[in-house]
Amino acid sequence: MSKRWNIAIVGATGAVGTQMIECLEERDFPVGKIKLLASSRSAGKTLEFKGKAVEVEELTHDSFEGVDIALFSAGGSRSEEFCPSAVRSGAVCIDNSSAWRMDDAVPLVVPEVNPHAIAGYTKKGIIANPNCSTIQMVVALKPLHDYGEIKRIVVSTYQAVSGSGSKAIDELRVQTGELLNGRPAKNTVYPHRIAFNCLPQIDAFLDNGYTKEEMKMVRETAKIMESNIRTTATAVRVPVFYGHSESINIETEKKITVEKARELLENAPGVELVDDVQNSEYPMAMDAAGQDATLVGRIREDESIENGLNLWVVADNIRKGAATNAVQIAEILIEKYLK
Ligand code: NAP
Repeated sequence: MSKRWNIAIVGATGAVGTQMIECLEERDFPVGKIKLLASSRSAGKTLEFKGKAVEVEELTHDSFEGVDIALFSAGGSRSEEFCPSAVRSGAVCIDNSSAWRMDDAVPLVVPEVNPHAIAGYTKKGIIANPNCSTIQMVVALKPLHDYGEIKRIVVSTYQAVSGSGSKAIDELRVQTGELLNGRPAKNTVYPHRIAFNCLPQIDAFLDNGYTKEEMKMVRETAKIMESNIRTTATAVRVPVFYGHSESINIETEKKITVEKARELLENAPGVELVDDVQNSEYPMAMDAAGQDATLVGRIREDESIENGLNLWVVADNIRKGAATNAVQIAEILIEKYLK
């Protein structure tokens, strides 16, 4: 029998963690033992993996004995504190938080874009998964960049509440119900009501007036694309449960016609072209939810500049934006690097 790998999922009870479990099952990842870790609040609960009940354990520094790969999605401070313990126990960490993304000794990987970077995991034993809104953007832009060299990106996001975790999913559901029943809606996750509203704030504001989420898109894009592409971003939370949408404008060194862009994207890994406007076919969050492709459409020339294109890009933030991307990295890791 081929080798099996012992996996730990840190944050197994969360929006991303539960999707990780599903992704490992769906992709038939060769799992030996599975360890499901979360806070003390969840210790003793059971979750299912491949039809069997697995008890959730409290995350501690001793949780990683015998673990080969630790998939982290329990927030940045848990990753900062516990990834080093996992590495000391001999595991490779694939981290979904922002804790290690901009560390020079940690590769930041989207398998369709820079799989070669995984080789750098040996420096710290950690591989970082990018921010969800960055992942789908670079999957769509990489083939265009390889052909025409992108100089500048202007992106506006329309991000689903699941990007803020399971409490935010509940908040939108409860607020919507309360408002439809004529009752006032309370907000705890977001600074304002999210139901029937759009919030031009994702994460905290920085001194330059951008939010942390926006600056993640700026910095992570340059690191993943290994280029000094200039990006400016506006990140907006919208009352959608699953699936981030993005309006992306690019300026390229070499002209890319709409036909050429379609041809490049039609053959690009991880991309599905949905671009038939005469029949009102374009990417929508409701179609992206529950699947792994990055949907690209509304491709048109930006008539205000010499070499510019506009695109509309949508993906499931919990799947390709988090869990699927991490499992894809793990697949490459076991195939090429871990023996
Ligand atoms: P979530 O639904 O709120 O889940 C958080 C998870 O972390 C839960 O399993 C929770 O366990 C666990 N946790 C919290 N405090 C803990 C502690 N002190 N010790 C151990 N475990 C603890 O959040 P999420 O959306 O899954 O996000 C998790 C991480 O993934 C975050 O770093 C986030 O930035 C990142 N991420 C999320 C997305 C997305 O689209 N949602 C995309 C990319 C990256 P309990 O159930 O026991 O509290």
